[in-house]
Parts: sequence; C-alpha cells; structure tokens
Amino acid sequence: MSVTSDNLQGVRQRIRSAVEAAQRAPGSVTLIAVSKTFPASAVLDAMHADQQVFGENYVQEAVEKMAEVAAADVTPAIWHFIGPIQSNKTRTIAAHFDWVHGIDRLKIAERLSAQRAAERGDLRVLIEVNLDGEASKSGVVPEAVPAMARAIVALPRLRLSGLMAVPAARTDPAEQRAVFARLRELAEALRREDLPCEHLSMGMSADFEAAIAEGSTIVRVGSAIFGARRIHEEHGA
Ligand SMILES: *Cc1c(COP(=O)(O)O)cnc(C)c1O
Repeated sequence: MSVTSDNLQGVRQRIRSAVEAAQRAPGSVTLIAVSKTFPASAVLDAMHADQQVFGENYVQEAVEKMAEVAAADVTPAIWHFIGPIQSNKTRTIAAHFDWVHGIDRLKIAERLSAQRAAERGDLRVLIEVNLDGEASKSGVVPEAVPAMARAIVALPRLRLSGLMAVPAARTDPAEQRAVFARLRELAEALRREDLPCEHLSMGMSADFEAAIAEGSTIVRVGSAIFGARRIHEEHGA
C-alpha cells in the first residue's frame, strides 16, 4: 500500500467517526482529495485506493494533470475547481471542471454560464462566503449571499449547489465550529427562501471534524492525504 492510500484510509475513518458522532447519515460527507502541487502520479495512487473526486487550485497545472490522468485509462475522475478564479481563466475552467467552488462575483458566474458547453451538462457552482470579514480574503459578505444566489439561479448551464468557505485557521475546535455554524445558518436561510443549497463545502485537513459537526457535506482535504505541499510555482496561472 502506498502512503497516499494509507493516509486516505485514515482520513476516511476520521470522517466516518465525525459523521457518527454528529448522528448524521453514513455517506453524507463527500471527500475531495486536494491534489494541487502534487503530480498526476499522486492522483493515480489515490484513484487506485478508490478516490474519484479531486480538487485543484491552479488552472494550468490542473489541465495538464487531468490529461495525464485521463491517459492512464482509469475511471474518469470528478474535478472540483477550488482556487481563486481569474476572469481570463473561466473558459478553461468551464471546459474542464465538473464543480466550481469559490464563486464570489456575479461576473464570474455569468462568464462560466456563457462559456459552458451544453453537452458538458450543468456546471455545479458554490458561492464562497467570507466569514471572517477580512478585507484581504475572497468571498462575498454574508448579507450579499441571498441576492447572489437568486442571480445565479437565473443563469443557464449553472446549477447552484451550495455554499463554500475557507475560514481563517483556528486551533480551538469550539471556535472552529462557531465559524462553520454561521455558514450552516446561511444555508438554512437560503433554503427557507426556496433557494437551492444542497451542499456546504467546509473543512480542510486541520478542521474537517468541526465542519462535519456543523453539517459540512463536502470536505476538501489536501495535506492529510498527500503530505506537505511545496510552494506552488506557476507562471501566468
Ligand atoms: C489547499 C486547499 C485545501 C486543502 O488544504 P489542506 O489544509 O492541505 O487540507 C482546501 N480548500 C482550499 C480552498 C484550498 O485552497
């Protein structure tokens, strides 16, 4: 067994325990293996350990990796774009990804909608929410989420699938939960308005258990599966 495979088993076990502790339904949390900065061989190791869903942050790196993975004759992977979105990259993202987290400007959603080919099926999108109010971070402020959701629902070839957040790192599990609870409450408010909000994408290597306790349905885990990342080097990403 590879290290990746061992790590995956460990993360899956921790997810199962957190789901059980929260008295949630088995299988109600999807694990995205965040493979950014790691080579296609790492993705293939994970695929051989039955991982099918991957997250990438850098468009050019991701597209090259997807081609290598596809050439390896494995079951097709499902790719989530989880990085910051530059408007000059939306066409490539719309062509290659199945899901896009981190929508924080309507202009980006409009471009993805216009550029998605009908035969690729609807692109699943999540609105990124800035829960910390830090000016430097991406994401829309909580108050702006309902209006953004209504605008996205009106766009063809996109399917609004929920909310996503990357809160500032906190070590205290109670503090982690308090922040994730705010995203859950925002999702509940959308559902009360009959807006679609099936998924909560929250929780990373350091805090996914707290996120699951607050209702996360998608956790994005990188280093706990693939190990420590080197610094990303990509020109014109
Ligand atoms: C890199 C990244 C992750 C994974 O982070 P780890 O701490 O390595 O698990 C999750 N979500 C986003 C948006 C990321 O950029």
